[in-house]
Amino acid sequence: MPRWGSSTTQTAGSLLVSMKQTKITLEEREIPECWYNIVADMPNRPLPPLNPATREPIGPEALAPLFPMALIQQEVSEERWIPIPEEVRDIYTRWRPTPLYRAYGLEKALDTPAHIYYKYEGVSPAGSHKPNTAVAQAFYNKEEGVKKIATETGAGQWGSALAFACQLFGLGCEVYMVRISYDQKPYRKMMMNTWGAEVIPSPSKLTEAGRKILAEDPESPGSLGIAISEAVERAATDPDTKYSLGSVLNHVLTHQTVVGQEALLQMEKAGELPDVVIAPFGGGSNFAGLSFPFLRLNLVEGQSIRCLASEPTSCPKLTRGVFRYDFGDTVGMTPLLPMYTLGHDFVPAKIHAGGLRYHGAGALVSQLLHDDLIAAEAVDQLESFEAGVTFARAEGIIPAPEANHAIASAIREANLAKERGSKRVILFNLCGHGHFDMSAYEAYFSGQLERHELSQQEVDAAIAKIDTPEIPAVAQ
Ligand SMILES: *Cc1c(COP(=O)(O)O)cnc(C)c1O
Repeated sequence: MPRWGSSTTQTAGSLLVSMKQTKITLEEREIPECWYNIVADMPNRPLPPLNPATREPIGPEALAPLFPMALIQQEVSEERWIPIPEEVRDIYTRWRPTPLYRAYGLEKALDTPAHIYYKYEGVSPAGSHKPNTAVAQAFYNKEEGVKKIATETGAGQWGSALAFACQLFGLGCEVYMVRISYDQKPYRKMMMNTWGAEVIPSPSKLTEAGRKILAEDPESPGSLGIAISEAVERAATDPDTKYSLGSVLNHVLTHQTVVGQEALLQMEKAGELPDVVIAPFGGGSNFAGLSFPFLRLNLVEGQSIRCLASEPTSCPKLTRGVFRYDFGDTVGMTPLLPMYTLGHDFVPAKIHAGGLRYHGAGALVSQLLHDDLIAAEAVDQLESFEAGVTFARAEGIIPAPEANHAIASAIREANLAKERGSKRVILFNLCGHGHFDMSAYEAYFSGQLERHELSQQEVDAAIAKIDTPEIPAVAQ
């Protein structure tokens, strides 16, 4: 029999009570039945995509070679609620509803009066929020008789999510993986292979787009934009293959709103409404997923919840980019979309948050930012890893490097609350775990991670190169 001192017992006891309160769960039946399409509630709807050649607005049919019709309809839909097919919802039950935690440990470590909550999407099979849309997209492709899906992946999160989803529906999956991540993250590649996908480092010699980039720079580290060009080209040139995107597009952002709808319910159960909702920002999908259902309360119920996107200082399209039409990819194969961008041929520095190395932002979030309905800030990678390690030591979960940006922003907010001595309720998206990103943590611990911020000169040079159409003044 161990002999416990009475004070120890008390401490352990009270610790246990608070630990039990940290996790706010939902029942399976509380998984949302619809995706929330914010277009229905936006004061200014996003401008239509343009045909890159004619620069005229394109109709849905122009996207037919790349996407199944059901997804194209969702892309242009103005319906507020889009029913989630039963098959998709059934698959969601494997990991949804995801838990929401009160971060007592982090609050204590920061000695802040703020209440900090986080929604944890790392419990999905692929370890991030990405399967929420991957499963939906694979389902609609399968329904329309598609045999194979081609896609790109940065850090490997999207590729693994789609590989998992394609495997469930018996679809082939061909993944163009940004070369730097392919080299840094061999285990993400093995995950995709395990789920039956073929993984090709990008730029590759298999496509026209890849060959063009390699001719200019044989050592190219690749970028999401380049990998998108390759996957789009594959889908456009093979009738049995369609293309799939893990972020940016309206339908992808809409699929992710299961995250925020659950979080809203969980915050209600906790008896609080957040003052600020924070998510890391790559193309906008996990940010939209968590924040849009809260933003809806601002738009239709007069709430004033601050929705804050956290992007890297090395790829600051929201805070330092321009709002104009640009391509989704590097080579210029996609329709022109109205977005905040640093230019489609901007290649971000090799920071470790691979999922945030993207030049542009989705049209929905771009319009919302332009209309001042959401906010953005930039965080340096060193600050983000400091935040991630503080979080891991206080809460246990090791976050994905992308998520570290949101944690850093949450810590900034918590410190502000401490300075002001005011309570502030903070909710952020812990959009994935970092179990396959330990080489990034290794770089951090060995002092190899450097601060990286674009100089004004670099931003100006990137923007000066943009030759795509401006947003018409009337729409501004
Ligand atoms: C893909 C990814 C991101 C960035 O993409 P968004 O569309 O902005 O969400 C961020 N975090 C994780 C864990 C990701 O996998």
